[in-house]
Amino acid sequence: MALSRSRISTTDLQRCGIVQCMEDSHVEGQAISLKQVSKFWDGEPAVDCIDLEVEPGTFTVLLGPSGCGKSTSLRIIAGLEAADEGQVIIGGKQVNQLPPAQRDIAMVFQSYALFPHLTVAENILFGLRVRRTPKDEQQQRLLQTANLLGLTDYLKRRPSQLSGGQQQRVALGRAIIARKPVCLMDEPLSNLDAKLRNTMRMEIRDLQQSLGFSMVYVTHDQAEAITMADQVVLMRNGGIEQSGTPREIYEKPASAFVAGFIGTPPMNLLEAGDLMAAVSTGTNDQHSNLTVGIRPEHVRLSDTAGVKAHIEHVEYLGADVLLDCRIGGSKLLARIEGHTNLQARSDVRLVWHPDNMHFFGSDNGVRLAGAPAGFHDLFTSMS
Ligand code: ADP
Ligand code: MG
Repeated sequence: MALSRSRISTTDLQRCGIVQCMEDSHVEGQAISLKQVSKFWDGEPAVDCIDLEVEPGTFTVLLGPSGCGKSTSLRIIAGLEAADEGQVIIGGKQVNQLPPAQRDIAMVFQSYALFPHLTVAENILFGLRVRRTPKDEQQQRLLQTANLLGLTDYLKRRPSQLSGGQQQRVALGRAIIARKPVCLMDEPLSNLDAKLRNTMRMEIRDLQQSLGFSMVYVTHDQAEAITMADQVVLMRNGGIEQSGTPREIYEKPASAFVAGFIGTPPMNLLEAGDLMAAVSTGTNDQHSNLTVGIRPEHVRLSDTAGVKAHIEHVEYLGADVLLDCRIGGSKLLARIEGHTNLQARSDVRLVWHPDNMHFFGSDNGVRLAGAPAGFHDLFTSMS
């Protein structure tokens, strides 16, 4: 892929591609901290006073919708953008003033940014050559890296003679041959098809674990984040909405925004009043300030008691069926295992374990500590 088509410049690449020799392929990952870091564009914060901690040798994913500040945060760690406020610390050292080449990092961009006129071998070796690493060490590392990435048979080809997945591997090769303690990746898989993306996720995760560097990886794909990360950092409007292990984020979302972002499909968010009206007789507006979250995979069908719902669509997924339901003014997706004969435009009763409900304030979206009075009991009697 030609550099001219990418958002990064050749200078960025040269600044990041410069490498330092180390004997062994295992590297000591370094800790990364951002302390109250902000970045403004025309007075508007693109990154808004964020605190981030990456433990040495771990995999952190910056996740969030387009425009929430992920790439800007990553470029601040890399030194490709300067923080307007706050401290950037890598390996215990404040690096705000250091240019990218002196931060001891490798970086992989979405565009791959391969040099079209160089062979695979020359692309991978680019940084080592700039650094004048001894020739035999270059060759030894090249063979090791190519072997690791399954590129041994392609070393003499040019990028245009490779598939998308192979080009992506060359970009990875160029980053890992550097054996840097920190590796930064910005949406490196978004140009690949779904199947290859799944394979490459695992490859990148395995590489990070076996080589031991610290990874900060940007994606807008929540499935990618929760399958790869030790720590997920979910961003919104330049701030950090929640950070935690994939399990913490899935099981205890800190806000309705997080709940509605994570999961395949994500958590259902219903007006409490709609839910109450569908289980008890008559409407109940006692919970009008409340949003109730329930994951599609926690919903079950019931023959007797349960929430009355109207099925609008039935989506057959093979192993599961997705029921697209309406409950009063709220929508709910139910993921039902196995086979069902349920039809669209019919009524159904749904239940779930009361512990699987999540509660959020409707105004601010913030998670409430527990179930409001009445709710838990009502659902305990049903399930
Ligand atoms: P993400 O990677 O999460 O999609 P970015 O970090 O690229 O988001 O962008 C965050 C915000 O900063 C967006 O509103 C974007 O338009 C703005 N932004 C990014 N880079 C620049 C720039 N060079 N000049 C002006 N605004 C920018
Ligand atoms: Mg981005």
